[in-house]
Amino acid sequence: MKILVVNAGSSSLKYQLFDMDTNTAIAKGNCERIGIDGVVTHKCPGKEDYKTSADFPDHRAAIECVLGLLTDEKLGVIGSVKEIAAVGHRFAHGGEKLRASTVLGPDEVAYLESIAELNPLHGPPAISGFKACKEVMPDIKHVGVFDTSYYSNMKEEAYVYPIPYELYEEYKIRRYGFHGTSHRYVAAKAAEMLGKKDAKIITCHLGNGSSITATVNGKAIDTSMGFTPQDGVPMGTRSGALDPTVPMYIMKKKGLTAEEVEKVLNNQSGLLGVSGVSSDCRDVAKAAASGNARAALALKILVHNIKKIIGSYIAEMNGVDAVVFTAGIGENDRAMRENVCEGMDWLGIAIDKEINNTCERGVDVDISAKGAKVKTFVIPTNEEYMIALDTQNLTK
Ligand code: ADP
Repeated sequence: MKILVVNAGSSSLKYQLFDMDTNTAIAKGNCERIGIDGVVTHKCPGKEDYKTSADFPDHRAAIECVLGLLTDEKLGVIGSVKEIAAVGHRFAHGGEKLRASTVLGPDEVAYLESIAELNPLHGPPAISGFKACKEVMPDIKHVGVFDTSYYSNMKEEAYVYPIPYELYEEYKIRRYGFHGTSHRYVAAKAAEMLGKKDAKIITCHLGNGSSITATVNGKAIDTSMGFTPQDGVPMGTRSGALDPTVPMYIMKKKGLTAEEVEKVLNNQSGLLGVSGVSSDCRDVAKAAASGNARAALALKILVHNIKKIIGSYIAEMNGVDAVVFTAGIGENDRAMRENVCEGMDWLGIAIDKEINNTCERGVDVDISAKGAKVKTFVIPTNEEYMIALDTQNLTK
């Protein structure tokens, strides 16, 4: 069975085609600069990478371009679009109602449209991407997979904010959590590696955007991102958690509007804001190594906050079986992993530095020190595969 996974953004449409008989992606790519001056990249294992400029004024033209590439005699991997059994669509936000992956019908789409305000950057383009795919492939099932749905079993005390309750009732202001598909995937892998279904697992998704999630028995019980993906640990350009009065104080002092201060906290903070160097962890680490004190401070703040959240989740779960590192920084930045795990041996977390420093990239690795009470794993995330799997399950 072939499943197409689509992740539509405002000016991009990423895709992966999975062969679910072999559980592998047989083609992947990205249509970028939709509506501007389109560029498409297309990769298939065993074939030369393909990149060209293309004319796609909208998502519909982009998906038509993708289907053209997938069925192309030279570049393609399938003989006909009819080989695609179903399409899985990534949605960052499923609101309070879409609590699990689901086949998208008119009711689900209307609900997603009604909550677009909760997710103005990703919601509308994802809906438009879905509609384009549905138009071009009307006879197969289209499944929505929501980053937020992994958190739909959190207890009220984990998701209701201590603000007037009417604000939750009226505006649905609450902790939703994000990156759920990634956390779900790596937590399930970790449970498999532990050989323990009811494991207590802390997953650290550390990338450009970062979040940490606590999972017990396959269900998320808490997560660091909140009402928006702005909460939690500092990120490339996002501040993460702050004293809630800080934005108001900046507004008053600098005479900024709400939108302007949002930009400061979203686009000019985090690693970039503190270091003044870059939002990219590699650049910041390089600057720190060559003596840039603010770059070094930015990394220390990140480590400090990751540790704090790990500690709090261990308290919430009354223990932990495994800590998992994933995403760009988590999978690749050996120093970051070492620094986060440093001085946590009292909690049972200790890594083998040699293994951490030499382990192969792109595979699941156990980097725990011999005899450590808690396992520490590096597990490459694969949100797209998770989406394909949910789509397959809902299509059977
Ligand atoms: P996104 O959230 O956009 O998906 P990624 O998961 O790709 O982001 O993570 C991007 C981050 O990963 C960047 O800060 C980058 O510096 C970091 N990163 C990627 N590769 C490496 C590497 N080899 N060493 C250290 N950091 C890396």
